[in-house]
Amino acid sequence: MSAGAAREPWVSVAADAPDRAATPREDLPDAVLFDRDGTLVVDVPYNGDPDRVVPLPSAAEALDLLRGLGIPVGVVSNQSGVGRGLLTREQVCAVRRRVDRLLGPFDVWAVCPHLLDDGCGCRKPAPGLVLAACERLGARPSRTVVVGDIGSDMAAARAAGAQGVLVPTTVTLPDEIAGAPMTAPDLLAGVRLGLAACGRLLGGVP
Ligand SMILES: [Mg+2]
Ligand SMILES: [Zn+2]
Repeated sequence: MSAGAAREPWVSVAADAPDRAATPREDLPDAVLFDRDGTLVVDVPYNGDPDRVVPLPSAAEALDLLRGLGIPVGVVSNQSGVGRGLLTREQVCAVRRRVDRLLGPFDVWAVCPHLLDDGCGCRKPAPGLVLAACERLGARPSRTVVVGDIGSDMAAARAAGAQGVLVPTTVTLPDEIAGAPMTAPDLLAGVRLGLAACGRLLGGVP
């Protein structure tokens, strides 16, 4: 069966991933989910080579902050190179392992391997990746922050009912920046903004 025929995201969860349903803290997000390419790591189109994985500035600091607060972190990533036949599942996994080694561990990974024409529900801007990651973590989408670099990340967050934070790069379009619910100059600032927004939602102190 091809990846496109299944139309399900690839989801993997860390063995010791926390369950936020068990330990909710209303002043903090249930989870923070990151786009991979152009957000956590330099965007290398259709990258299947772990040696080309390069973290973006302040990614490690942003993740340290979240892990220090006990907030689950995850990755939600479109990898249409699989559907195009340019990437194998093993290559996507090899890149994931390198990202995990450099910036991990992540509590959940949700990857869409499909093409736009596959009509799946997971390819961003659809909400499926965000919802699948939330479900595995026991996180409420409305209490989850999604950090990304383009408009489709923000649209996926909105469609899932989550809080979107845009961290633009040089390829982010002006319209995407103007339309984002929140924007920040780098990942650490973006995460702080997301924390503050979740604290405000219920009147908690960020
Ligand atoms: Mg991206
Ligand atoms: Zn998909």
